[in-house]
Amino acid sequence: MISQQNSHELLIKLIDIPSISSDENAVCTFVFDLLKTMSFDTVQRIPVDEHGFNIFATKGVPKVLLQAHLDVVPPHIPSRVDETKIYGRGSCDTKASAACMIVAAQQALADGLTNFGVVFTVREETSMVGIKKLVSALPQIPFTIVGEPSKLQPVTSHFGMLTLNLETKGKAAHTSQAGEGVNAIDALIKAAADLQKITIHPDSMLSVVKIEGGVASNIVPPLAKARYSFRISPDDKNDYLEMFTKVLKNHPLATVTKGFEAGAVKSKLPSELSFLGKGQTVKYFTELSFLQSGVILGPGDIIHAHTDIEQVQKKELDEAVLLYGKILVAMAN
Ligand SMILES: [Zn+2]
Repeated sequence: MISQQNSHELLIKLIDIPSISSDENAVCTFVFDLLKTMSFDTVQRIPVDEHGFNIFATKGVPKVLLQAHLDVVPPHIPSRVDETKIYGRGSCDTKASAACMIVAAQQALADGLTNFGVVFTVREETSMVGIKKLVSALPQIPFTIVGEPSKLQPVTSHFGMLTLNLETKGKAAHTSQAGEGVNAIDALIKAAADLQKITIHPDSMLSVVKIEGGVASNIVPPLAKARYSFRISPDDKNDYLEMFTKVLKNHPLATVTKGFEAGAVKSKLPSELSFLGKGQTVKYFTELSFLQSGVILGPGDIIHAHTDIEQVQKKELDEAVLLYGKILVAMAN
């Protein structure tokens, strides 16, 4: 059995089960088995693929969900503990949230609370396919507390991300017969120069992140590609795919397709959660992009996520357990 005192112990166990994105089965099985020992009405696996699965546990008819992802970025870093902190891969991103949510849920179940659920997902650090599968498996998703390192400050708005793939197709030829070919790199440079002229929302950001093309010194390049990455402000309503498509009408060799997309979020705290304080805006995006409504709230600081000194403060873990418990009392039942 677990208790509030050993949310620390549970976090250490979770950190020490390697769960690099796309290899999550061991940690999922551990959490699934643990939830099975608690008095939830249902504990189900929501399949993702052979490398990992989502977990969804409910008590009553959930009005609120506690959610965190169980995958981490490479490399695996085992746990290390000192007086005030727990270190290791996932210590803040986001096994700390997961551990505190499990302990808070256990306390809530012991107190007879009902109408809430917990959700643990996989593949957040790569394709987001875990949360996408969850959303397609559940017809309705209640207000969700998304556990990401926010120093326990509520985050109600965040930027979105969009990638657009530009491609130009030409025709290969021997460079001594260049006139017989159509140079895709030339076409890409011209299209890219025109795309630089579009005006984006002042708070959003656009970076060209990848460029490739060409075969060899003696071949007119038949294909070239560039990838554009947008970080989109929650106040930005532009349709950048449409804007790109319009510009490329003057570039018949060029096409643009949408790559990854996670929408920006602008949500509000329900009045029951006003005790959390004012909602903040952050520039990273989270699984909340794919959910209907919710707030990001978790122990740890994003500044430590994905670093080799990933860490969380023990006292923040204790505070998180209490805060998640308070949220369940305010919103469930
Ligand atoms: Zn992360």
